[in-house]
Amino acid sequence: MMHVTPCLPALHAIAPSPALPQRVLLLENSRAYVQAIAEAIEQQLELPVVVASTLAEARALLDRYDDWFLALTGLVVADGDREAVIDCFLERDIPTVVVTGVYDEELRARMLRRRVIDVVLKSTPGSLDYIVWLVKRLERNRRISALIVDDSASARLHTAALLETFGYRVVEAVDGASALRALEADPSIRLAIVDQEMPGMQGVELTRRLRALRARDRVAVIGISGNSDATLVARFLKSGANDFLRKPYSREEFFCRVSQNVDQLELIGTLQDLATRDFLTGLPNRRHFLDQAERMVQRTMADPQPLTMAILDIDHFKRINDGWGHEAGDHALRAVAAALSLHARTDDVVARFGGEEFCVLAPGLDPEAQTTYFEQLRQRIEDLRVDTANGTLQMTVSIGVRHARAGDDLHRLLADADRRLYLAKARGRNRVVSTG
Ligand code: GH3
Ligand code: MG
Ligand code: MG
Ligand code: MG
Repeated sequence: MMHVTPCLPALHAIAPSPALPQRVLLLENSRAYVQAIAEAIEQQLELPVVVASTLAEARALLDRYDDWFLALTGLVVADGDREAVIDCFLERDIPTVVVTGVYDEELRARMLRRRVIDVVLKSTPGSLDYIVWLVKRLERNRRISALIVDDSASARLHTAALLETFGYRVVEAVDGASALRALEADPSIRLAIVDQEMPGMQGVELTRRLRALRARDRVAVIGISGNSDATLVARFLKSGANDFLRKPYSREEFFCRVSQNVDQLELIGTLQDLATRDFLTGLPNRRHFLDQAERMVQRTMADPQPLTMAILDIDHFKRINDGWGHEAGDHALRAVAAALSLHARTDDVVARFGGEEFCVLAPGLDPEAQTTYFEQLRQRIEDLRVDTANGTLQMTVSIGVRHARAGDDLHRLLADADRRLYLAKARGRNRVVSTG
């Protein structure tokens, strides 16, 4: 028996990673502003926020919890000066953003030299939106690896320190060849900062080769150079770079460019997800399934190996909707989708085919393994307990299964699986039919 909270990995999930610290500390003496920030972060980002209005309170909180992700702090508190406030967080290695009411360029420069992530001016229009964006960006950066390719150790050190301040995991490479190796080995690299002037392979050439490994929607490339050659920017961009930075660049310019490129990468991922996923369950949609299945069937016909098509339909789903309400019906659909995702092996393709119908295309199962696989899937769904506002509901599914043979095509596999699904319904539901 299993209670379900559906949780599906995104198609474009960056990398599986252990739980990261999430807690945000707000130190600020203006109650109204604190309230607005805390609410925005808790609601939009779902991060836990705790609030302090004095340095003593902040210290007590810092000692009480040990899962700090970020401190957002004002500089004016009753029991300490600016430096004491900043020290309090930086001494504990807590990433820190300063939110201030006064514009002071000298202060700003001093803060940034001290590895404060950013200094945000409260009175700027949109400052609250900026803070929410910044916190979200920093939170996500922790799951992104950035590759620095530079032959100069001091340049690598400088860039690595900047990227680490913004939360990125950093991978370094001293030349083009080792950069390509690092990229092949580490799929969590989503950003590459590429120096032009390097012995062996230059940055533009590296960018061209890198693109053969990773498309623009996988890795953002930013070229850098101190060279004043007017053609260099265009050469970088034409070789597949997303952007270019001229050395020396300011820390803020660097962060803005990097963030913009990473934002864009995520946006592309989101758009791809919207096109290929079913909105309700998060499973691949019908169109995506047919694309994938077509390819898989063709491969299997060219190079025979076992392949099984199954169509699964929830039994008497209309009664669930009628008896428990449409919303509970949606819950049930998500629960089945989650059970399917859990049941699926790495190479299986699963999808919501439409309504309360799902598809599975499973390679590599001999007839005996196939029977076990789908019988266990049927059982798994029968064992689900879906909590709804009106109590706990249960359901069953019928499954039609068709094993591929020489000369099959996708259309025939689907038609036969569908016919067997109707046999399963006719024979009393809650069963798997794989012959006839
Ligand atoms: P059978 O055992 O023969 O499959 O009976 P059934 O009631 O499951 O089959 P039928 O095809 O008559 O009903 C399917 C129902 O699924 C009708 C439709 O309103 C419902 N449905 C389709 N999509 C959704 C959805 O996204 N959410 C909810 N809650 N219901 C949906
Ligand atoms: Mg160089
Ligand atoms: Mg049904
Ligand atoms: Mg149906």
